Amino acid sequence: MADIAIIGAGPAGCACAYLLARAGFKVDVFEEHKAVGKPVQCTGITTAALLDVLEGMGLSLGSQKQGGRHSTSDKTTLPRFIINQVNYAHIYAQNKSSITVRLGRANLVLDRAGFDRFLKKQAADAGARFHMNTRFVGFRKTDHRETGQVKTRLFEIDLIKSSTRAKKRRGEHQQHRADILIGADGPSSAVARAAGMYGSRHFMLGYQLRLRLSNDNSVKFYPFPKGYAWLVPENTNTVRFGIACYTKPREQLELIAREQLKKSPEQLSKITINAQAGLIPIYNQNIRTEQCNIYLLGDAAAQVKATTGGGIVQGLIAAKSLAEALSKRKSYTRLWKKAIGKELALSLLIRNALDSMHAGDYNRLIALLSSKHAQAVLSKYDRDFPSQLLPRLMITEPGMILFSCRVGLRLVGRVVLRR
Ligand SMILES: Cc1cc2nc3c(=O)[nH]c(=O)nc-3n(C[C@H](O)[C@H](O)[C@H](O)COP(=O)(O)OP(=O)(O)OC[C@H]3O[C@@H](n4cnc5c(N)ncnc54)[C@H](O)[C@@H]3O)c2cc1C
Repeated sequence: MADIAIIGAGPAGCACAYLLARAGFKVDVFEEHKAVGKPVQCTGITTAALLDVLEGMGLSLGSQKQGGRHSTSDKTTLPRFIINQVNYAHIYAQNKSSITVRLGRANLVLDRAGFDRFLKKQAADAGARFHMNTRFVGFRKTDHRETGQVKTRLFEIDLIKSSTRAKKRRGEHQQHRADILIGADGPSSAVARAAGMYGSRHFMLGYQLRLRLSNDNSVKFYPFPKGYAWLVPENTNTVRFGIACYTKPREQLELIAREQLKKSPEQLSKITINAQAGLIPIYNQNIRTEQCNIYLLGDAAAQVKATTGGGIVQGLIAAKSLAEALSKRKSYTRLWKKAIGKELALSLLIRNALDSMHAGDYNRLIALLSSKHAQAVLSKYDRDFPSQLLPRLMITEPGMILFSCRVGLRLVGRVVLRR
């Protein structure tokens, strides 16, 4: 069995460590922070597909199966990292009109640090070894000799351990040998850079405030040209109010707070508990995700939905593909693309279309989605899987076809003009 080094103990890295350790591999996980899950740079809302994925990995969560899918109806048996469930979503247009969608399966709000700790524990229980405060800085490939013969080429991984007192400032250099190197080290992946797999990447800027704000326990989306904002309830008195856009996230969030929450920047800062920021990679199918025993996973591989910036469920699905690929000697790229490639590509197409829309287009879109038929589809089909949602929306709401054609044509026009 090969020795595997995983860089990054986020959800993708921990889930992969769990699956590989359970399959019998010797797994070492290196994380630059002293504790998993911190600092939090995530809103932590997912669809209920998260439960299906975790149960599919053999992690029993106490959720119940109804019609082949896991439901969250029995709250008492749910794991502690699920801190809230949301049954309604409101989507607001630029002209302040809105639609309300009853979510067929409740969305889950996670204690993100608690979720990462949960996955770490599963991995550690399965035998993975965690090295905290240890930062990956590079690697070399060296020949490994056994009884005078070259056996195989190994990775000599360079790490900096920062917790030792004597070398606190600079950290202590360490080396670790492995046969396989997995970069699950987030959007700016040092592994991808060191391996020459970084390619050309684009990001949205994520920024989020935790606010003391009483609310009706529904999630609210505020799409706008070239970005979107959201309000996700932790409980009836606390919300996560965030934004993803290309420029000035803080200023744009303050603008939305003024318009939608009726809060000035001063009022906003009075109710702010803390602020968090992070990069959201935009899916790019041309990023290489495997090369000579080096693999990229999760945000490091830009496996993120471009529509909503969600990457938790997608990173876990890709972790499962990677564990299967290494256990059964299959192509990782082929497996993860089969599992989520179509959905991620479609999300990117939708993001490009949304980015080409004007405020008036958003108003028209919300008007179209407010029909009874469209709402029934939105409520039934999961936004993690747009390939199921989109065609059904088109069939039930024919106005959507015309609308999509118009936006699509404009998009094509822009691409042609750019060339
Ligand atoms: C503001 C914001 C809100 C978001 N909200 C949501 C949401 O509601 N739902 C959702 O599904 N997704 C959301 N996302 C996206 C989600 O957070 C990511 O997709 C997810 O965390 C990716 O998991 P990962 O394990 O691939 O990477 P990460 O969670 O980024 O984990 C990478 C780990 O690698 C470590 N690391 C990095 N470099 C090194 C190194 N050189 N050496 C050692 N360790 C290293 C990091 O410390 C980190 O622990 C949000 C993102 C942002 C920025």
